[in-house]
Amino acid sequence: MQKHNRTLKEDFRIIKRAVKLIQSNTPHFLLHTYLYSFFNTAVYVMSNYITASIVDELTGAKDIKKIIFLLSMYAAEIILKIFQDYSWRKVRTFNIIANKWEEVLLNSKSFSMDYPNMENPSVRAKRQLIEDSRGTGGLGMLMEHFIPLFTGINKLVLCSLVSLELFFRHSDKALSGFEKFIDTPLFTVAFFVFVALCAVGEYKTTSKYNRLAVEKVKDISLTERLLHYFLDDYIDDSKAQKDIHIFNQKGLIRHLSDKIYHKWLKGNKELLALQRKRNNRYNMFYVLTTSATYLFVAMKTYIGAFGLGGFIKYQFCVARIVEAAESFSGAVTALRTNNDYLEIFFDYLDTPTEMHYGTIPTEKRMDNKYDIEFHNVSFRYPESDSYALKNVNLKFAVGDSIAVVGMNGSGKTTMIKLLCRLYDPTEGYITLNGIDIQKYDYEDYLDLFSVVFQDFRLFSFSVGENVSAQVDFDEEKVWSSLEKAGMLERVKAMPKELRTPVYKDFEEDGVEISGGEAQKLAISRALYKDAAFVILDEPTASLDPIAENEIYSRFHEMVKDKTAVYISHRLSSCRFCDRILVFHEGRLIQDGSHKKLLEDTQGKYYELWNAQAQYYAEN
Ligand code: ADP
Repeated sequence: MQKHNRTLKEDFRIIKRAVKLIQSNTPHFLLHTYLYSFFNTAVYVMSNYITASIVDELTGAKDIKKIIFLLSMYAAEIILKIFQDYSWRKVRTFNIIANKWEEVLLNSKSFSMDYPNMENPSVRAKRQLIEDSRGTGGLGMLMEHFIPLFTGINKLVLCSLVSLELFFRHSDKALSGFEKFIDTPLFTVAFFVFVALCAVGEYKTTSKYNRLAVEKVKDISLTERLLHYFLDDYIDDSKAQKDIHIFNQKGLIRHLSDKIYHKWLKGNKELLALQRKRNNRYNMFYVLTTSATYLFVAMKTYIGAFGLGGFIKYQFCVARIVEAAESFSGAVTALRTNNDYLEIFFDYLDTPTEMHYGTIPTEKRMDNKYDIEFHNVSFRYPESDSYALKNVNLKFAVGDSIAVVGMNGSGKTTMIKLLCRLYDPTEGYITLNGIDIQKYDYEDYLDLFSVVFQDFRLFSFSVGENVSAQVDFDEEKVWSSLEKAGMLERVKAMPKELRTPVYKDFEEDGVEISGGEAQKLAISRALYKDAAFVILDEPTASLDPIAENEIYSRFHEMVKDKTAVYISHRLSSCRFCDRILVFHEGRLIQDGSHKKLLEDTQGKYYELWNAQAQYYAEN
């Protein structure tokens, strides 16, 4: 993560927003965090106070009743400890909840995000950065950093209150010249000014070193991630083993990981050096203030301003005030560092919704008469300078079977993404039965499409859940979809049939399936949805020739009266379609039947067809 250059005000705004967010889920988190640090501080201030009072009594009036009363006060300490323990459990629980809540917020944002943003490289990079930096910050960590902050405040307030007495404690004895000065408020003020200066000095130096240490930790965590990538992700990845062996990558991996390891070690040594320097400075201020406090309190005791108990009490309290500065500086540094994470976190949550989601419900038609038309559509991907589609005019007629062909990068998949409203055109518009598709209710519109994308994903859930995308599925319909896609026998042979988990990620009795079988399951899923448009984007890439032939020969029967669109590189499979669309460099350059397109011997289709025909002939 980059080093922040936010102002204090901006940091405060981020913290305020994060606190509000946590409180919307766990309303009492701040209260309990405060109470926990209050009880924590109160326990030892009280304990010291009682000890000091008993010492005063033992060295003074020796009133036994008072001594017994003071001893019984230790019982009150137990009550404070019970409260402290209760608040601690609350704080821990809130903390665990906050960590999960953070994930929930991120995921629900991802779920509700416009599709273009989910593919947008900078939005994806932000999410990746958040995932990579989870250990360095977060809502849970923000809560943790409030503990030293409140502890610092509480120490300062409670101990200052006790120390205030110092201004009013005077000796009853007849004092000589310098002794008189010790007894004056001026002496006490001078002492407190000295302590305050030490506390400020300590705050400044520890803040500086804390900040440097945090930057160092970030550098180290980057090298740690790289080490983790080589030693865990890559070497452990079973898919990488073939490459490691065939290309003999061992030497390269060893060289790179050794280099990173040395960088990591160097970083750690530098971190230790920084911490040592910080501790040395802290110790210097601590010794300075502690000796000054001892001296001050000893002198006051000597002139008879208070007894031995006062000596114990005030020395303790002044030392805690100095400690408070360190607590405070640590907490402020930690909170500001945590903001590096929260800033990206909020930035991600603030990703705007720009798509128009529409309200008109789509007509539910038994005859599937959904006419979709592209009107002079051009499209550029976000953050891209060039057009992926240019001036496309196109009409899909009901029941057509359409093949889309063209070279890699010619815009075929992009056209499908626009058709399914994963993206909206940059220029031009698309209509469904004459109405701009942006006016239709988004989910209603998506219901019209079933797509098997090249890079589809299956869940590590059961076959039935995968095919139906539902928990309670229609078994008969699942079987029928599997049969159409040629997967029936394979699933029948699985140990729990439709209930068999796909993959072994979570269940021992899961089944590993081949790429071709996964594709057949994806096709079954597309058929189960029973949408008006069935689109197969290079669906046969992982299928063997027999399976491919099976799918194509049955495809028309599979989709019946629906509009079928499929993208394929194998032109031999496309020629049976009613209509072939040829894309080239983002433009729709030819549109017609196989026969008609071949007649144009100067056309792209003729060129593509002959290139493949030649390939098949030679092989
Ligand atoms: P095809 O399906 O014909 O292989 P695509 O429609 O996938 O081609 O791609 C058309 C053009 O758009 C290509 O130049 C490709 O690099 C670009 N492209 C595809 N997806 C994205 C994306 N998410 N962001 C930016 N450019 C993209």
